[in-house]
Amino acid sequence: MFTREIRLHPRSIYNFVMSRTKIVATIGPASRTPEIIRQLLHAGMTVARINFSHGDHATHTETVRRLRRIAAEEAMNLAVLGDLQGPKIRVGNVRKGGISLSLNDELLFTPHRGQPAMIHLPHPELFSSVAIGARLVIGDGEVEFKVIEKKKDILRCLVTVAGKLESRKGINVPNTDMGISSITAKDREDLRLICDLDLDFAALSFVRHEDDIRELRELMRMQGNIIPIIAKIEKNEAITRLEEILQLADGMMVARGDLGIEAGPERVPSLQKKIIKLCNKAGKPVITATQMLQSMVHHPQPTRAESSDVANAILDGTDALMLSGETAAGHYPIEAVAMMHKISLIIEEDFPYARWRIRRHRRQEVSTVVTEAISIAVCGLAEQVEAAGIVCSSMSGFTARQISRYRPETSILAVTPSEKTRRQLALTWGVDCLLIPPLDKTGSVVEAVITAVHSQNIHAGEKIVITAGVPFGQVGQTNLIQVHTVSSQYYGET
Ligand code: PEP
Repeated sequence: MFTREIRLHPRSIYNFVMSRTKIVATIGPASRTPEIIRQLLHAGMTVARINFSHGDHATHTETVRRLRRIAAEEAMNLAVLGDLQGPKIRVGNVRKGGISLSLNDELLFTPHRGQPAMIHLPHPELFSSVAIGARLVIGDGEVEFKVIEKKKDILRCLVTVAGKLESRKGINVPNTDMGISSITAKDREDLRLICDLDLDFAALSFVRHEDDIRELRELMRMQGNIIPIIAKIEKNEAITRLEEILQLADGMMVARGDLGIEAGPERVPSLQKKIIKLCNKAGKPVITATQMLQSMVHHPQPTRAESSDVANAILDGTDALMLSGETAAGHYPIEAVAMMHKISLIIEEDFPYARWRIRRHRRQEVSTVVTEAISIAVCGLAEQVEAAGIVCSSMSGFTARQISRYRPETSILAVTPSEKTRRQLALTWGVDCLLIPPLDKTGSVVEAVITAVHSQNIHAGEKIVITAGVPFGQVGQTNLIQVHTVSSQYYGET
């Protein structure tokens, strides 16, 4: 019987078993110190998220340098994702402590500061585009208004969900196009820093159309650094153009916070499944985000519903799970990552590999693209010969992502001379990565792969399935499969 072995795995050097599901942790005031970062890495964080909705450039720069330094000291692979705020609109400042509002209270909003008895809403574009009857949702739905009257500079609104209105809270206006670009002036400034720091991913908030991705990539081109783009899906417009957006983006995030406001919380589960399935099919990483372990902001244990939510996202096929407030501002950042990691390891024991095998077989019948055909064949072959692992030599990470897409039960190890590729694979399900010395075109890729693998905890007589592109160094040129039996000469074993 085929069983998944963890022997062929760089995770052994960490002295603990890493889950196949990747964990994105947002770094903030609660998690920025060197000691906490170190502990987050050992608890299972593989991607650190810098949220540009908060903080300043000096702090972000210092945090990124610190993250990279500590990951290097701990010899752990860590990617850094910069999350652009996008056109998030916020209320201005209200009185200290907030304003408590009851159902059917009336309130006036104005774009002008300092108007007595009115709430400052510093976004003039909203006043021209919003319609009578529109919903203004504050924060994650803590307070909600309906627009009942509209004048040039004033919106009269009725409270439809009672609660407290606090300073600088985000506002969502579902189904209203405010005619502003998804990439704001602030995003352009932040993007410059993301490119200068050479972050591993840039996430774009409130994507509506594939043109938003095109525009961001063009801005990156102008900065001279093209970084993989994660499209955050949280707008109704984006839901109608998922395939087009995914064609241009390098991955997606199910941004369930704002998605729940736009589409309604009742639609989040089915949209989550749909987005994950699309990304799996495309072989692009997908992150499931927001409120995964929300109660751990204040408590050391999650609710049972939250731990089930984490497990179900993994069963859906997510590559990565994300923590936001839990690690950025919560009381238990390390416990939250450790809990997510524990839930992942346990549910991965029951991962429905057989179901994915069926999908793979279906795909095998129609696939004519070489890299895809090889990826499918590699997964089948590894199972058939009961290999200890699949090892792929990957320049850009593309082949590793293609193999991961079929969720094989066999461990996947990517070997690459590119430090950047290694870091980017920290977001892809089930792929671990080893750095190998640069190879010239005449060097033997297979020999380099075998040498790298023998530095791992693997025994004589075990088989590995190797896939590579020959000659080495061309992206998307995977054309070789080899079954290699580990020889005793490396170990002096008999
Ligand atoms: C979300 O809305 O779920 C999300 C991830 O975006 P942000 O945390 O930037 O609001």
